[in-house]
Amino acid sequence: MWAGAADIVDGPGGFSGVEASEEWAAEIKRLARQRGATILAHNYQLPAIQDIADHVGDSLALSRLAAEVPEDEIVFCGVHFMAETAKILSPAKTVLIPDQRAGCSLADSITADQLREWKADYPQAIVVSYVNTTAEIKALTDICCTSSNAVEVVESIDPNREILFLPDQFLGAHVKRVTKRENLHIWAGECHVHAGINGDELAAKSRVHPDAELYVHPECGCATSALYLAGEGFVAEDKVKILSTGGMLDAARTTGAKQVLVATEIGMLHQLRRAAPDVDFMAVNDRASCGYMKMITPAALLRCLVEGKDEVHVDLDTAHVASKSVQRMIEIGNPGGGE
Ligand code: SF4
Repeated sequence: MWAGAADIVDGPGGFSGVEASEEWAAEIKRLARQRGATILAHNYQLPAIQDIADHVGDSLALSRLAAEVPEDEIVFCGVHFMAETAKILSPAKTVLIPDQRAGCSLADSITADQLREWKADYPQAIVVSYVNTTAEIKALTDICCTSSNAVEVVESIDPNREILFLPDQFLGAHVKRVTKRENLHIWAGECHVHAGINGDELAAKSRVHPDAELYVHPECGCATSALYLAGEGFVAEDKVKILSTGGMLDAARTTGAKQVLVATEIGMLHQLRRAAPDVDFMAVNDRASCGYMKMITPAALLRCLVEGKDEVHVDLDTAHVASKSVQRMIEIGNPGGGE
């Protein structure tokens, strides 16, 4: 029998012990109403979490929504830097994350001290940071970017100024290739999930499904391979689409393809299948699952709403400075939504 919060177990992999049953869903809705909270879920969340959320989307779209919705309490089902970005854009609201241990290997690939040292080596450089960074890094950044507007952000900067681009090396390489900018220095960070989606798997899947379109997130280790395969004629150039998660959903709604190979975290398949039920979406690597994202379990969400935990804090000075680099990002091109 379902005993609700009494069943929750806290273990090394996160909170467990509660299934996503109908009782669970009804209790989540009731508690959220009672607290006056809105639930936001990232595209890489477990399907049950996506289905119970008030809004599903990518990190930037959700952070902007957090600021716009009338509720004063935001439950952010995603990883910690995403909840922090929501807090930066709405400092007066209470932002909760169901498990604050949900980190991000990409955001963790550069520390504030490392960035200060890098900046000291290039004192005149402009710092451009992908939105997958901590609040502290954003506060040391001139302009943030998403994967949708990274190229436009870099092109908006005086061509004679050096640029420090961080933290993702694959997105950095994509931007450098497109802008042909030699004075762009790239931090060697990566996301362990996206880096694991490699070119060999992509080439093998493309051979088996020669008519399929390819949706590739620019953070993936295979983004370069996808462009190479197109360049070498293995895959028709118009079939390869380097897209943010928001861009993938837009493309899915209008595609004429029957099959699409998807190179990003596999949680994305749930929203793509909902957006275009007649299209066969297949993962390039079906083991590409982010363990941090999956720490937001049904048990974690229940505990969050029962106990009002974990609250996300960003000190006001850091939030104020960080919000400027985020605001500049929103003003350039079409920021889409990042990851
Ligand atoms: S998929 Fe990678 S970049 Fe995204 S949250 Fe997980 S570790 Fe971070």
